[in-house]
Amino acid sequence: MIVDRQGRRFRNLRISLTSACNYACTYCVPNGKRLVAAQDELSAEAMARGVAYLIEAAGIDRLRITGGEPLVSPKLETFMQAVGQMGLSDISLTTNGQLLARKLPLLVDAGIRRINVSLDTLDADAFRGIARGGDLATVLDGMDQARAAGIKIKVNMVPLRGQNLDQVMPLLEYCLARGYELRFIELMRMGHLASDSNAFLQQFVSLQQLLSLIGDHHEYLQADAPVDATAVRYEIPGQGFFGVIANESVPFCRTCSRLRLSSTGWLHGCLSSSNRHYVGDLLDKPRHQALPALQRLLVKALGDKQEVAFSGGATVMKIIGG
Ligand code: SAM
Repeated sequence: MIVDRQGRRFRNLRISLTSACNYACTYCVPNGKRLVAAQDELSAEAMARGVAYLIEAAGIDRLRITGGEPLVSPKLETFMQAVGQMGLSDISLTTNGQLLARKLPLLVDAGIRRINVSLDTLDADAFRGIARGGDLATVLDGMDQARAAGIKIKVNMVPLRGQNLDQVMPLLEYCLARGYELRFIELMRMGHLASDSNAFLQQFVSLQQLLSLIGDHHEYLQADAPVDATAVRYEIPGQGFFGVIANESVPFCRTCSRLRLSSTGWLHGCLSSSNRHYVGDLLDKPRHQALPALQRLLVKALGDKQEVAFSGGATVMKIIGG
C-alpha cells in the first residue's frame, strides 16, 4: 500500500468518463461554450482496465463516475458493466440529471444505488442563467424517477452570491421533503476562478454564512461523518440531513483519500496541484508490466497532495470531474 508521511493513501477514485458536457455552468466554463469530448479520450475498456489496475496498485475500493457529464458518454454502458464486476465497495455517479430519466434503466441494471445530482436553483430563469444548457423540469422529473427506483439521491448546490443565494432555503426544503440530502459546495478557486480573485470573492459564500441563513429557519446539530469525508454534515432533527463541502472554511486535505483519472488518461493526486501523470499508455499493457510503473506514478501523485488546505488550481473542473 502506498501511504504518505501524514498516513494518507488513495482509496476513492473519481473517473471523468468524458470531458463533454451538455451544460456550460458559469463557474466552470467562463466563455459559455459547452465542452466536447477530447479527441484522445480513452476507450471504455481502457478506463475499466485502469480501475482494475488501480484497485490493485493503490488499494482503491470506492469509485465515483463523473465528467464532464457522464450520462452523455457513449462509453457509459460498457464501462459500468465492467466496473460492476470488480468487487468495489461502492460505485456512485455525479450527474447534472438532464439525462437521468432516460439512462435510469441502465444505471439500475448496473447496480447504481446512489447518485449526486448537481442542481443550483429551483428557479427556471436562474437555472438557464447558471447552467446555460438543459431544462429544470427535466432534472426534477429525473430525480423523482430515480427516487421511485430506489436510488438514494444527494443534491449538489454551489451557492453563488448574486445568483442563487435566495435559493438556499427553497432547495433545502425541497430536498428535506423528498429525503434527498443537500450538499452545499463552497465555490472553489478552479479554472478561471483560480486567477480571478475578484470574480471568486464576489460570488463566494462561506459555511458560516450558509449556517446563519439556515439557522434562521431550522435548528440543526452537527452529525457524524467518516474520517475521510469531504463534507461537514448536519442533522435537522426529525427532518433530515444536509452537508457543506467547505474547501475554504474547513479544509480537509489532511485526510484526503481521493485520486482522479481524466478521460484522456492523466492521474491527478490533488486538485490544487498542476502536476499530473500520464497512465493512458500503461492501460494497454499487461498487468505485470503496468503495475510497477503505475505504482511509481502513484507515489508521485500522492506527493502532490497539499499538506493542509486547498489553494486553487488552474484545471477546469469538467476536465477532472470535480
Ligand atoms: N456534469 C456533472 C455534474 O454536473 O454534476 C459532473 C461534473 S461537475 C464538474 C461536478 C461538480 O463540480 C458539480 O456539482 C459542480 O457544481 C461542481 N463544480 C464545478 N466547478 C466548481 C467550482 N469552481 N467550485 C465548486 N464546485 C464546482
